[in-house]
Amino acid sequence: MNIRAVYPGTFDPIHNGHIDIIKRAAEIFSELTVAVYDHGRPIKSVLFSVEERVEMIESVVGNRPNITILSYGGLTVDLARKINAKVIVRGLRVFSDFEFEFRMALANQRLAPEVEVVTLIAREQNTFLSGSTVREIASFHGDVSSMVPPNIAAALANKFNGEQEQAFSAPISLRD
Ligand code: ADP
Repeated sequence: MNIRAVYPGTFDPIHNGHIDIIKRAAEIFSELTVAVYDHGRPIKSVLFSVEERVEMIESVVGNRPNITILSYGGLTVDLARKINAKVIVRGLRVFSDFEFEFRMALANQRLAPEVEVVTLIAREQNTFLSGSTVREIASFHGDVSSMVPPNIAAALANKFNGEQEQAFSAPISLRD
């Protein structure tokens, strides 16, 4: 059966946890759309612009034939309907993710009962990994080479060179 799935997220930036979910989802579903959330305006807690985030994902998984990458605003279920995706994929790391994901899945179920939410359990080695952890470590010039591909580590280093460093002062969010 041909099933299209959408994997939505902020991906600020894409890291090894996301990449693992993308690869596994692309094995399960015939088409996978990685959908990068566009807040519509610059917000303090997001380091990379939506264009940069899309470009970074393309550089990492864009060569896979059944994966497409796009940005979107508004409701994920509206995007799912628009692109004819029957499944929303999410990753689940630790138990504290569960309540958030569960509530969101229930809300999406109410809005679009025909769209299923499928969660993939994070690989054990990625359970600690989040965008905010990667950003925070990079902001102190820490080594993120085991958490992101080399070009993403370079993009992070570039962001945190010189004056950009002061510009990013958002606190770590426990969820992200
Ligand atoms: P969002 O703002 O939608 O939570 P994220 O980019 O933080 O955006 O995460 C996108 C999806 O990837 C979410 O389902 C999240 O749970 C999942 N995810 C984040 N980090 C990991 C990880 N280390 N392993 C597996 N899944 C992850």
